[in-house]
Amino acid sequence: MSKPKIAVLGLQGDFHKHIERLAGLGAHAYAARLPEEISEADGLIIPGGESTTIGKLLVRYNLLDSIRTASDFGKPIYGTCAGLIVLATRITSSTSERGGQPTLGLLDITVSRNAFGRQIDSFESTIDAPIITGVGGKPLSAVFIRAPIVEEVGNNVQVLASYNGNIVFVRQDRILGSSFHPELTDDDRVHQYFLSVVDESLVTVTQH
Ligand code: GLN
Repeated sequence: MSKPKIAVLGLQGDFHKHIERLAGLGAHAYAARLPEEISEADGLIIPGGESTTIGKLLVRYNLLDSIRTASDFGKPIYGTCAGLIVLATRITSSTSERGGQPTLGLLDITVSRNAFGRQIDSFESTIDAPIITGVGGKPLSAVFIRAPIVEEVGNNVQVLASYNGNIVFVRQDRILGSSFHPELTDDDRVHQYFLSVVDESLVTVTQH
């Protein structure tokens, strides 16, 4: 099979590390800023950064529709941290800045921004995600930076991992979202998992 083409939204934030990680796993990964760079990809990663800024830039660069169309075509999309927030249907905030930010509304979840609180702005931990590590496998390393928590999930949303009882990794069909940054650890299993979802989607598309 040829290399899967993965667009990493390159408007703001932490996109280079995702590109490096995906390239290391054999994908053709590139920074995407134009609608056609999204539409020609087999899958998309929306990185961490600042979700209000990413949301505004999605509007300014006219990318909301091309991302929604990619999702309608069944292309896998994975949002990390701010990317998870931008994918959500409902956003709350633990800071004074509330609501009103543009979102793609592709993941049926309520997400609370900066939900781990100011004292623990950023931390690294291990989490159990059996779907990725296998039951009893080495836990995943995860880096949380001013991270959101998923407060509610819709019926079609599967919880892939929690941390201290808080939902931090979800999947709805081919849309994935994590509160944490897997690209900032040595562990590449989350990216491998995303690429396996992309592979499955390519098989389905070719069979049609
Ligand atoms: N706190 C940021 C936000 O609300 C997300 C932080 C991150 O992506 N690491 O958008």
